Amino acid sequence: MKKLYEGKAKIIYTTSDPEILLTQFKDDVTAFNSSKRGIIPGKGEINCQISSALFKWLESKNIATHFIDQPAHREMRVRAVKIVPIEVVVRNIAAGSLCRQTGLIEGKILSFPLVEFYLKNDELGDPLLTRDRLLLLELASQKQLEQLQSIALKINQYLTEFFASCQITLVDFKLEFGLDSQGNLLLADEISPDTCRLWDQQTKNLRDRVLDKDRFRHDLGKVEAAYQQVQQRVLEKLGIR
Ligand code: UDP
Repeated sequence: MKKLYEGKAKIIYTTSDPEILLTQFKDDVTAFNSSKRGIIPGKGEINCQISSALFKWLESKNIATHFIDQPAHREMRVRAVKIVPIEVVVRNIAAGSLCRQTGLIEGKILSFPLVEFYLKNDELGDPLLTRDRLLLLELASQKQLEQLQSIALKINQYLTEFFASCQITLVDFKLEFGLDSQGNLLLADEISPDTCRLWDQQTKNLRDRVLDKDRFRHDLGKVEAAYQQVQQRVLEKLGIR
């Protein structure tokens, strides 16, 4: 195994099969374009388990993902893909940068799920892109954009319903996609409290309801407990525990 790439929250290793990579999830956490850093003990395992479970479940709903299996607590075997350098964000409720950039009040239910594309480029601070800028930069074709939008909306429908069954509101989330050696578009990266905003429906308290990385971003405390709470509810609902 050779280290292929080390990112902020994961390390990617090659395997003996060039079509298969091994992802190792780390406890490291960063926010605000890496200006804030920390460690959430146990996060790697939790995020790997939640992501694996959700990828597997989405596969059962005919969403193609890079997931193969989870050989160890913090390790996921995945199909090797060329990552499309676009972060696809889907929002159901106003929060985070949408509020900062538009003045919408946090918590406002959006009249339709908003799909946004951001450039995956840390140096540029992951800027929000227009459809035309995406085409101009040749990051995707018109057809691929439509495909990304429609898969993202479908995933949003599935995940919103699923999290609701766990008494969790899916506020927004980020997806990444990749192309395999045959050119198939696969959902990649992870789906976890690092990449989703998740609000607990069991409490109305605005601070307590946050079950995601915002606890770290805004120093709300009990970060690990929140991640564990998501893990417990997701795995229980899927009958894994
Ligand atoms: N997100 C992410 N990685 C990023 C940027 C955003 O996983 O590099 C997720 C984030 O956790 C949230 C959603 O995408 O669930 C929307 O994030 P937003 O644009 O509001 O950014 P923020 O307010 O975190 O800067």
